[in-house]
Order: sequence, then structure tokens, then C-alpha cells
Amino acid sequence: MCGAENRLKVSTTIIGAGWAGLSAAITLARQGYPVTLIEARQVPGGRARAVYYKDTILDNGQHLLSGAYTETLSLLSSLHSIPPLIRMPLRLNIDNHVNFRILNLPSPLHAASGMFLAKGLPFIGKLKAFNLIKNLRQSKYTSGKTVQEWLENQDRTINEQFFFPLCLALLNTPADQADATIFKRVLIDTLAGPHSATDLLFPTDDLTALFATPIIHTLRSLGNKVMVGTRIQSIKRHPEGFELFYGKSSIRAQHLILACDAPQSSRLLDTLGGHTNLSRQIQSIPHQPLITVYLQYPETVSLSQPMLGFTKKIVNWLFDHGRLRGKKGLIAAVTSNAIHSQQYSLPAIAKAISKELSQNLGLPLQPLWYKAIHEKQATFLAIPGLNRPEHKTHDPLLWLAGDYIAGPYPATIEAAVQSGLKCAECIRLKTGTPYATYS
Ligand SMILES: Cc1cc2nc3c(=O)[nH]c(=O)nc-3n(C[C@H](O)[C@H](O)[C@H](O)COP(=O)(O)OP(=O)(O)OC[C@H]3O[C@@H](n4cnc5c(N)ncnc54)[C@H](O)[C@@H]3O)c2cc1C
Repeated sequence: MCGAENRLKVSTTIIGAGWAGLSAAITLARQGYPVTLIEARQVPGGRARAVYYKDTILDNGQHLLSGAYTETLSLLSSLHSIPPLIRMPLRLNIDNHVNFRILNLPSPLHAASGMFLAKGLPFIGKLKAFNLIKNLRQSKYTSGKTVQEWLENQDRTINEQFFFPLCLALLNTPADQADATIFKRVLIDTLAGPHSATDLLFPTDDLTALFATPIIHTLRSLGNKVMVGTRIQSIKRHPEGFELFYGKSSIRAQHLILACDAPQSSRLLDTLGGHTNLSRQIQSIPHQPLITVYLQYPETVSLSQPMLGFTKKIVNWLFDHGRLRGKKGLIAAVTSNAIHSQQYSLPAIAKAISKELSQNLGLPLQPLWYKAIHEKQATFLAIPGLNRPEHKTHDPLLWLAGDYIAGPYPATIEAAVQSGLKCAECIRLKTGTPYATYS
């Protein structure tokens, strides 16, 4: 039997159209495997998706990509003739004081340029920090340590005004809790990598248009089934595969990729039975919230740079959508401090943020409108010793995808994409069919 016939016999159902599920689906479909993609929400894209508000399209939260996201960027290039992204050299303005800016120089000179040209940091500290970055690949002793412990010999000002805010931005985990090994890995791939890896990429279109829409269009045009607004409630095993239940209906599946967020994957595993340990392992992964407050000001309002960072404010990062998406006067304010979301209501947080922006940046006290979005389980808390599950389960037809799956990265788009690709590759290898690409 030829490869194409073999592939047609291996069907895969994917629950969850976040970036992990979408990556698995498009990869399998392009290789000629029939796929069915099922998503609970009407708008696909998961934790990186469009949100419709008034007459505008926002995202569920501010996202940015890094030049080191090789798998994500390669997939995006295959989906768009020109991906709707604006690419900028890394520039971090923190507390209107530290200005870290990477020059277009070969590695490691680019990192040196950033460190030594940064204003507001002590020289000896810069030297120490540059040595750390230059020698990251050889550096050991991160295992079991937090970022704060790992960097205890670095200069205090550099830690507080550079490494710690960077850690919070990259891992969404404060430095006193964050896993030094994951942080080091991200630094190796960015600051210690080639110059292009340090670039920041901002979507110029909404996140669903960036990823889910072109993938779903391709899946359907290749004859695959996509069901949105369909929440799978439970799963049953039968000899040849699975039965997935939703509403009053059910659908059969052969290979099954659970590409839901961690809590939902754990819940569905419980309905399936026989995976108690795995379900408990997933449940034990702690998560961290993120709040994005979009504030619409008059069109004349803008920030001095596309992105500004703050260390001792409610706001951690501000993004100017006028500069990034042509939406003049629209500012996205991000806070990842879990305490704020536990103690205050969303309107109270939005009000406090408007006040901060007025006092510190001279923006009008009252925006024209605001929309606050609270993602309660935005990312897993990247603490040392987390026991994250693998893609494979003890059931040869059941696979797991998602940003929380074991891997080198924190909970990011790249981690989600990598996990989806890995599942697709496992299914291809398992079914022993030769590789073929269908455009
Ligand atoms: C506010 C915010 C800001 C972020 N910023 C960044 C950033 O700047 N850069 C970055 O790289 N990452 C960022 N992240 C992290 C990134 O968004 C996630 O890591 C990534 O989107 C996770 O993708 P996923 O596919 O693993 O999971 P998800 O996106 O959670 O996808 C799971 C999907 O499964 C669906 N689902 C769940 N249960 C069922 C069911 N029973 N039936 C059917 N469907 C189901 C869900 O609706 C969802 O669409 C941010 C996250 C948030 C929330």
C-alpha cells in the first residue's frame, strides 16, 4: 500500500484550537493525514486570540513574539506571504530610567552593546552582567535555584532594573520564585543567540487573524473538519479509539490529541478514566494570572516608545497600539502581579492604572473607554522542580499538546507550537508513514 493510502487510514482528532492544537492540525493535514479540530469557543486561538469589543478588535491580552521563536515564525511564514508582524530590535525602557538597546552587531557584541550603552546602570555591574550573558552556555549551577538565587552575585541595581523585570516579562513568574534553568535557557536563545533572536515581533493584526484563521482556512480547503463552539464534555475509550461527547451528540476519534489548557485536559482525562496519576500531575501545575487593560485615549496620545516597562507600579508593561497597529490613542497596560487580581476588582485596577499613567506619563486621567481582560490561568508559574507531563501517555492513541508540556520554554506561544509539532511528529513516526508535504 502506498504512503498516501496509509496516511488516509490514520485519522487524528484534536481537542482545542489554541496555538498547540492548531500547529498539530496544520502539520498533520499538510502531510496528508485527515484531521478533525474541535474548539469550545466561537473564536479560535485559545489564550492568544481576538476579542471583539465595541467596533474594534482587541486581543485577549497583549502578546509579543521573540526572534528566537523559530518554529512559530517558520509556521507563520508558511501561512502568510508576509506575516502581519512588526519586527524591532530589542529595546527595553524601564522606569523611564534604564534604556537597554541592542545594536546591529554580531553575537556577542550585540549583547555587549545593549549592556554597555544602557543608561542608568553601574559600570562594574554591566561588566559582570555581560560576562554572565557571554558565558551562559557554560554556566552550571541553576538546577533547583530561583532566578534571584542564581543571580545573587550580580549587581543589585542590574538585577532589580534589568534581569528581574526581564524574568517577569519572559516567564510571567517573579524572580524570587522563577526557575533559573528556564530563565537561563531563554537568555541563551535570545541574548546569547544570534542578533536576530533578540528581536521583538509585535502582531499588527489580531491574534486570531495571525494564526487560527489561515490555519482553519487551509484545513477546510484540504477537506478536513473544523468544529468551533463545540465543547467536549467527556471521552470514552473503545477498542479502535475514542468517543467524544458534546451536547447530545458524539463523534468518534482514532488518534486523539488533547490540546486543551492544563485544567481542561486534566478534567477530560478524568472523564476518560485510567489516567489518574497523569491527571493529578497536570492538576498540580500552578498557574499565574495576567490582566491587560486597553485604554482608549484621544488619537493625539502616544507613548515615547512602543513598549515601556515599570518595576514598582501596578503596570508592568505598556504598549502603544498607535505605533504598533495604527490604532492611535490605544494603550495596552499589562499587569502580572497576582496580588492585584486577588485584592481588587477589574474596574478598580483599570482606575488605578489610569491614575498611574496620568501621574507618571501625563496621559489624561480619564480614557475615552477602557476594556480590562483578566486571564486567570494565563501561564503556568515557572518554578523550580515543576513536574510537567510528556506528549506521550500510556495509551498509544492518546497524546497531549499545550504550553504546559515538558520542554525547555516557559508558557509561551513557542512552547505551545513546539508541543503541537511534536505530537504531529509522534503520530507520523508511530504510524510509520513516509513523510510528504502537501501545500
Ligand atoms: C494575557 C496573556 C498574555 C500572554 N503573552 C504572551 C506573550 O507575549 N508571548 C508569548 O509567547 N506567550 C504569551 N502568553 C502565553 C500564550 O498565550 C500561551 O502560552 C499559548 O497561547 C497557549 O496555547 P495552548 O494551545 O497551549 O493553550 P490554549 O491557548 O489554552 O488552547 C487550548 C484551547 O482548548 C480549548 N478547549 C479547552 N477545553 C475544551 C473542550 N472541552 N472542548 C473543546 N475545546 C476546549 C480552549 O477553548 C482553547 O482554545 C500570554 C498569555 C496570556 C493569557
